[in-house]
Amino acid sequence: MLFGRTQKNPITIADKQVVDWKYAACGYCSTGCSIEVGMNADGKPVASRGVADADVNRGKLCLKGIFEHELFDSAGRGTVPKMRNHWNQEWQRTDWDTALDKLHDEVRRIQAKHGPDSFAIISTGQMLTEEFYTLGKLTRGLIGTNNYDGNTTLCMSSAVSGYKRSFGSDGPPGCYEDFEHTGCLIAWGSNLPEQHPIIYWRMKEAQEKRGFPLIVVDPRVTMLAQNANMHLTITPGTDVVLMNALMHVIFKEGLHDQRYIDANTNGVEALRAEVEKYDPVTAAKICGIDEDTIRVVARTFAKAPAAMQIWTMGINQSTHGSDGVVGINNLALITGNIGKPGGTSLSITGQCNAMGTREWSSCSGLPGFRYLEVPEHRAEMAKFWNVDEEFFPKKRGMLQTDIYQAMEAGQIKGLWLIATNPMSSLPNTARIRRAMEQLEFCVVQDCYQDTESAQYAHVYLPAGTWAEKDGVMTNTERRINRVKPLAIPPGEAKPDLWVFNRMAERFNKAGKVNFPETAGEIFLEMGQLSKGRLADISGMDHALLEKNRGVQWPYTAEQRDKGEVPPKGGKRIYTVDGTFSYPDGRAKLIPLPFIDNNEVPDEKFPIWLNTGRLIEHWHGRTKTGKIGNNNKYSPIPFIEINPDLAAQLGIQRGEYVRMVSRRGDAVAMAQPTQRVPKNMVFLPFHFHDCANRLTLGLLDPHSRQPAYKQSAVRIEKIADQVAAAKLSMEMRKF
Ligand code: SF4
Repeated sequence: MLFGRTQKNPITIADKQVVDWKYAACGYCSTGCSIEVGMNADGKPVASRGVADADVNRGKLCLKGIFEHELFDSAGRGTVPKMRNHWNQEWQRTDWDTALDKLHDEVRRIQAKHGPDSFAIISTGQMLTEEFYTLGKLTRGLIGTNNYDGNTTLCMSSAVSGYKRSFGSDGPPGCYEDFEHTGCLIAWGSNLPEQHPIIYWRMKEAQEKRGFPLIVVDPRVTMLAQNANMHLTITPGTDVVLMNALMHVIFKEGLHDQRYIDANTNGVEALRAEVEKYDPVTAAKICGIDEDTIRVVARTFAKAPAAMQIWTMGINQSTHGSDGVVGINNLALITGNIGKPGGTSLSITGQCNAMGTREWSSCSGLPGFRYLEVPEHRAEMAKFWNVDEEFFPKKRGMLQTDIYQAMEAGQIKGLWLIATNPMSSLPNTARIRRAMEQLEFCVVQDCYQDTESAQYAHVYLPAGTWAEKDGVMTNTERRINRVKPLAIPPGEAKPDLWVFNRMAERFNKAGKVNFPETAGEIFLEMGQLSKGRLADISGMDHALLEKNRGVQWPYTAEQRDKGEVPPKGGKRIYTVDGTFSYPDGRAKLIPLPFIDNNEVPDEKFPIWLNTGRLIEHWHGRTKTGKIGNNNKYSPIPFIEINPDLAAQLGIQRGEYVRMVSRRGDAVAMAQPTQRVPKNMVFLPFHFHDCANRLTLGLLDPHSRQPAYKQSAVRIEKIADQVAAAKLSMEMRKF
């Protein structure tokens, strides 16, 4: 017994008087934890817990999941539809019919005046898949704008683009179970313990059992880097150089898998010719990793019986994010590390249902990884939905980041924002503000009425959130899991699916297109459309998903009819030679010349600005900023600053500092730490009017994803600390 222990008060856990536990999947990140929400005798959600027999989380939840039941009655929820003629006027309460008629009329007015694509629709990675599918049908089949995208462009479009370029289709090939088989793990720009804590626990448990080397590539000493065997503190924006150098060594030393390359890939000669230029000595001068380390990492990775790579925003949010993903895929392909236990390139997804929108929203094409550019896909979908094939555009329209530039340029006049908040999440806030101010009409559909973007709305539609709704979500490892409605939306708020179906009635007066009313029916319709495709879900239904605590795709009707149960643990794709999604079944090895086009520190702005996430907060804090137990850890923005830089600038711990970039300035509290080098500060991106006042957000040419992580700033000491504290608090009014 510990000294004095007997004199302490015993720890008591408050009895929440739970009488029933209800099932859902967590609505924050893409890990896909199964969760149960405890209801008290009044039917009020009062507790959350992990589901013990769920493959993904095995009873665990992170800090966000544990308090997720507090979302339902958090502050700022919208309870009634509202309208106004101009965004600088006061809101007026209205009814649903008036609000939806207004949205319909404004879409058609703007399209008639400025053309069909002058009205844009931007959704999210937060809704349920059946909602994405219905919105896609409404947008592609009836409204007819090609400028339709999701906020997933800000986090996942580089992964999507890279997978498509390498494998011919989106779709992560691996699964979490790969941690239990791998012989080497490289984590590129991924801080699992904070961003995906439960995936980290899966990885850490496997690593402790089997002792595989963990190699972390990150300019910052993240929590994951602290646990790594090797930490490569790369110069920001130079990942492709390191990847090319690793491949240079692998080819030079004959460590590649020639059999796999011959059987599964095209383009090896061009790739070899390109990486030949990246000898470790030359590469070290650009990427900042010494030549010996490059050689050791290349050998460790290539000699492992199975080796895997994971990555997150450190790769995706870059001017060459798509190339970075292709580089990871190149490394995996030349060493035969795709589709085998422990050998994969696994993009760790961001939002809870970013995968669902990739699969079914029709943002980047048509449902089920079909392309607008492929005539057979257009014909198939037109027939299935009973719409005119010619109504579909023949190629994809603008991505989200380009839509704002088109608004700024006056080409887009109307905007429907659904569960997304560009005023907080897009880089260069001042520019987004100018773009929003120019709109003739904007509607915001969101579960919160007080988002920063609602400032510019003419109509506000109150939506349900998370488990106030019915449907499914797909996680990082292609596992589809069930979310069941366990609360009803507050006041007159409605599930997003209800809103889309009521809008469909207005655009579908002749009743030509069928819009099923329930999520269960919609899921079965999606199942029919998925038959024979990569993401085949035709063997699944809602009941099966709940029973199994999620099922990975593919799971086909044939498997179900043969009585084959969905496998426990993990399932991979591209497991057999020649099954990639290009017509010849082969993956592409793509040479990646390095183009140094980022903003880099200079005399005037000498410090790298690195942005990222904290464990307690979710994206723009729209949710977690209102949950006391999450918000209290970081109620205001702070920067990690190297103690030597802080001393040089005369900055003490806890003082407010001003950061200045070419776009604007922002105030945050200084936290000196050795986690960042002397020429870098790290700023969490969650806070409105902070990180994105500074970020430049140059766009990747393939994915149009912004480079949030490579900007240059200078740091200034603030003389009047009281005024700075006041300003920091005022800026937190959202
Ligand atoms: Fe939810 Fe992600 Fe946390 Fe799991 S790890 S509880 S999915 S936020």
